[in-house]
Amino acid sequence: MDGMQRKKLQTPSAVPASDRREKLKLLLDLCHQLGNPALRMAILGEGNASARLSGETFLVKASGCSLPTLDKNGVVECRAKTLLTLLETTNLSDAEVDGTLLNSRVDATAKKPSVEALFHAWLLSLPGIEFVGHTHAQAVNSILCSPRAQEFAVKKIFPDEIVCCDVESVFIPYTDPGRKLAQAIRVETEKFIRNIGRPPRVILMENHGIITLGRSVEAVMSAMLMAEKTATVWLGAAALGGPKFMTPEHVARISGRPDEALRRKMLKL
Ligand SMILES: [Zn+2]
Repeated sequence: MDGMQRKKLQTPSAVPASDRREKLKLLLDLCHQLGNPALRMAILGEGNASARLSGETFLVKASGCSLPTLDKNGVVECRAKTLLTLLETTNLSDAEVDGTLLNSRVDATAKKPSVEALFHAWLLSLPGIEFVGHTHAQAVNSILCSPRAQEFAVKKIFPDEIVCCDVESVFIPYTDPGRKLAQAIRVETEKFIRNIGRPPRVILMENHGIITLGRSVEAVMSAMLMAEKTATVWLGAAALGGPKFMTPEHVARISGRPDEALRRKMLKL
C-alpha cells in the first residue's frame, strides 16, 4: 500500500478532518453525559446519539456499544441519503434493512450502526438540528409505559418544562423499532412542524423512550434532563391526585416571554 492509499483509508470521510474531530469530540461528550449512571437514563447498550457532519454524512453510535464508555471506535460515519431511501420503502426484510445499514458506512471497516440510525438520519436533515440524543430514561419511561403517555406529551406542568422542552412534544404510539419507527417519526414530526412552525425539542415513543434534538449538545441535554425531571414531578403529582396542568394561556405566555427567550439563548437551546 503506498502512502496515498493509506492516507485515504485513514481519512475516508469527505468532511474536513478538523470539523470531523471537533464534532466527534462533542458527540462523545454528549454520549458520556447521556450515559452517566447517576441519571438512570441508559444502561448496558441502551440509547444512542448522533451529530450532523455535513449535508451528506453524520456520526452515530454503533450498535451495542455503551454510552458512558464510548470512544471513537464505537462511532460510525454514515451517508444520510443511503438510509433515507429506506423511509420510502414499504416491505423490506430485516436482512435487507441490515444490508443497507452496513452499506451506509463511509468506512467499510467501521462497526454496524444501530437500526435507530434511521431516525437519526431523518431528524438531522431538519433545519437547525445538529445533534440528536435518545435514551430509555427511567421516569419518562414510567409514564410512556402507562395509559397516560400521550397526555404527558401534550400537557405542561411548569414553566421550565416549556423553556427546555417547548409547548408540546411529538408523541409516537408504539411502533416496531427500525424502518417503521423512523417512518412514524417522520409523519408525526412533519405534523408538529406544520402546527407549531418549528422542529420539536422532544419526541416521546410509547413503550420505548425519548429523543431530544437541537442545535447544540447543551440543547439536547437540557431537553433530556428537563423531560426526566418533569416526568419525576409528574409521577409525584399523580400520586397526589394530579398533575394539575397549566392552562393553554399560561403555556403560551411562558413560551412568548422575552426573558424566557433570553434564557433559551443563554442555555444554547
Ligand atoms: Zn431505543
